[in-house]
Amino acid sequence: MTTDTDTDVDAGTDLEPQPEGPPEKMLTRRTELTPMLSQYLDCCEAHPDALVLFQVGDFYEAFCEAATTVAQVCEVTLTQREDSTGTYRMAGVPIDNATSYIEALLSADFRVAIAEQVEEAEATSGLVDRAVTNIITPGTVTNGDLLTDAAATYLGAVSITDSDGDASEMTGAIATVDVSTGACRVTSVEHDQIYEELSRLRPAELLIGPEVDTKTIESSSLPFETMQTTHNSGAFELATATQTLEAYVDEPTAFLSSAERRAVGAVLDYAEYTQGDCGPLEYVSRIRRYKTDTALRVDATAIQSLELFDSRQPYGETLIETIDETSSALGRRTLESWLRRPLADHEAIKTRYDAVAALAENPLVVETLTEKLSHIYDLERLTARTAREQADARDMRSLLQSLDSIPEIKSALIEVLTETELPAEILEQLQAELDSLDDIRTLIDTAVCSDPPQTVTDGDVIAKGFNDDLDDIREREEAGREWVSELETRERERTGIDSLEVGYTEVHGYYIEVTNPNLDHVPDEYTRRQTLKNAERFYTPALKRREDEIIAASNRADKLEYELFCDIRAEVAAETSRLQAVADAIGRLDALVSFATIAISHAYVRPEITADTLAIEAGRHPVVEQTQAEFVPNGITFEKGHIAMITGPNMSGKSTYMRQIAHICILAQAGSFVPADAAQIPVLDRIFTRIGASDDISGGESTFMREMSEMTDILHNATESSLILLDEVGRGTSTTDGRAIARATVEFIHNEIGARTLFTTHYHDLTTVTGSLPSAFNLHFKVHRKTHPDNDASVTFLHRVTSGAADSSYGVEVAKLAGVPTPVVEQAQRYIHTEGEDYTEISEQGTHHHDELTHAEMVSVDHDNQQNQASDDDEIARSPRGADTNTDAGINQSDVSANIDVLKSLRDIDIARMTPLEALNMLENLQRRLDE
Ligand code: ADP
Ligand code: MG
Repeated sequence: MTTDTDTDVDAGTDLEPQPEGPPEKMLTRRTELTPMLSQYLDCCEAHPDALVLFQVGDFYEAFCEAATTVAQVCEVTLTQREDSTGTYRMAGVPIDNATSYIEALLSADFRVAIAEQVEEAEATSGLVDRAVTNIITPGTVTNGDLLTDAAATYLGAVSITDSDGDASEMTGAIATVDVSTGACRVTSVEHDQIYEELSRLRPAELLIGPEVDTKTIESSSLPFETMQTTHNSGAFELATATQTLEAYVDEPTAFLSSAERRAVGAVLDYAEYTQGDCGPLEYVSRIRRYKTDTALRVDATAIQSLELFDSRQPYGETLIETIDETSSALGRRTLESWLRRPLADHEAIKTRYDAVAALAENPLVVETLTEKLSHIYDLERLTARTAREQADARDMRSLLQSLDSIPEIKSALIEVLTETELPAEILEQLQAELDSLDDIRTLIDTAVCSDPPQTVTDGDVIAKGFNDDLDDIREREEAGREWVSELETRERERTGIDSLEVGYTEVHGYYIEVTNPNLDHVPDEYTRRQTLKNAERFYTPALKRREDEIIAASNRADKLEYELFCDIRAEVAAETSRLQAVADAIGRLDALVSFATIAISHAYVRPEITADTLAIEAGRHPVVEQTQAEFVPNGITFEKGHIAMITGPNMSGKSTYMRQIAHICILAQAGSFVPADAAQIPVLDRIFTRIGASDDISGGESTFMREMSEMTDILHNATESSLILLDEVGRGTSTTDGRAIARATVEFIHNEIGARTLFTTHYHDLTTVTGSLPSAFNLHFKVHRKTHPDNDASVTFLHRVTSGAADSSYGVEVAKLAGVPTPVVEQAQRYIHTEGEDYTEISEQGTHHHDELTHAEMVSVDHDNQQNQASDDDEIARSPRGADTNTDAGINQSDVSANIDVLKSLRDIDIARMTPLEALNMLENLQRRLDE
């Protein structure tokens, strides 16, 4: 055996010791350990995948490897503990503000098991009993400080049917539970949809059933951060899972498939485990089953590239931030889930519009509702905390305050309903569902003090008049205190010592203080309690008796208050499902009110749901229109199977245009009004978005391979009811390949899929594809060059979509400007001209076809977007197809001809024959000519 120095722990181990699980050093001397450390070892052994934080007094301590980890991650001091059996590394965090430390450990990918003293220290003579009361993992946090308000935190489980067929034919199920609110949901998915549905749900932690093919859902391949947890795989077994479920629902077999039972059973089993394994979680009051095909499916890549919830730029705006006018956390979470899962049911969408319309007709009531909703706390989480017996008295008051707003919310709704002519079915339902739970309100209001402290064990929690016994005890305590407070006057009179004072300290209790010069006058029954520099403190038998009475009464009262509080909390917890229903209704109402607010303030219109036509009149990009001074609206008319090839130079507005169409469709199917003058929207089944690799600035790992595998996904899964956005696809490889792939893709979508498709491309010649495809047409964005008084080389982007293909491929001009040798430029131009012939012919056909379509209603606002010097795009507009002589109308002629002269001379320079000195002289000469 080695010596017990701190270093021996690490010595001789080849493997990096894990901070989770029982420490090797304790295992080797398990029989000798002190009782406390042996308790610690037991906790570690029982929770081998968690880092155990072990309560010792006011600290949570960790030992050995775990201590080193805690010291590093939490930046606390590593100390050591020495006892007869050895020296152990130790690090602790104060319990009072453990939250931030636990957060740090979670972010560092640890699960944290909290082992608490489950016995009062004074209740036992020996060692206090400790037990793991809670395991905090990324997917199961319940502590308010560790949760974000806006988004739900899910624990997820994936399972598949246990049939032994071919994996691709097996159906799977995904269950999630939000342990902070009790929301539990499950769905069935095809095996190859697991990845997609998980990407949508984004569980913070994931349990994977034993038979699931993990290749596709390794955390590294999922587009969000998740912790994969291996928990008791037996929990996934059908019989076990069904048994777990029986504690939650009657007859789980009746409404859940076997894969679903396995997933829900496992997810709940783990949730119970993390909440201290005390049996079923009461606040999981129902299990909701949903179907994935009842929603518009916006796949993970589209969610990302459309910036629905996360921006691709560091401080960029997202769609949800732009349209979020909710007032409560409940509303915000509902809004988010509506955007993640827009509706795919015609009628359901229309009823949402009716509700939004009825609200939007009444801007004043909308304001009132917004105000009232803002007083509603996170009812879902409050309810869950109550059911978990974690709610404190302040939580009870927050609950009360939330419920207090409900009658006013109901009457605001009634006002909307009486004034509107619209069939506002949802609002009627919500009005009926909103239960102000008067019984609960009265209970909390009469029982719980209005401004209680956070701790529920030290009194000031229960209101006066609620319980007679409590009032009696408090009265006696009060009488005692009064007696003491009058004591000073009485004693001053009796003793004649004017400076005599009565006071109190935590440590010594009540005292009578007499300054040194007056000590002669102290009566006989005064007993010395404490000596100070200038005074002595005394007590009298009467004072002592009173003090004991006060303390006893106070302790009894505190204890009684705590008991009463627990009873009240249990009474509230018994109404969990009613509270959850109210929370749910508030969430939906808040989201609808938010839709109405945006419709009013941003002039959104009610879409019309159509069978096939997608027509947007003067549509706007919801985010871009808010983030810049002016926005040029653009429309589209798009029948089933139509493909639009969109060309135009950089920064002309192509990407913005197609994303705005997708945003409008998503908003429309979520039930929101949309940023446009008018919109006809068909019910889409899926939206796909692919951004060409070189455009994808955020995804560092974006490669051509990834782009192509995403294309494969689209080509396999899109239907004629889908909307496909392809933004510069094919740029991740050489031009020839890229163009070839892009062209073939467009043809395939056109001929085989028939999905509505928007395709932006830099490859100007791709527009010829419209010649051979009847349902394809060209759109383009132009830029105009114009002269500004103080800035003679400025470019105006019109940002206006126009039918037909862009009239130029401009790369050659850019090349020339950049100094590419003349022969190369000329040769390139010759190539263009030869290709150009057939290009022109085909493109005319394309344009012709397109004339049959009503298109792009334009508002003629010129969006001035000045660029200071001759950028690429500047040159493009100026000289289509390489002529030197181009002079656009409106350009200051003399400036332009001077510049062109200089450029000509530049072009004619034969650099290869020049000496450096000649080159410098030439440069100076050119500069002078420009100055003149
Ligand atoms: P492209 O894809 O053609 O390179 P983008 O769509 O990325 O161009 O647009 C470039 C910038 O132009 C946007 O960031 C936005 O600021 C502005 N923009 C785009 N469309 C419009 C519009 N319709 N009205 C006003 N500004 C626009
Ligand atoms: Mg773009």
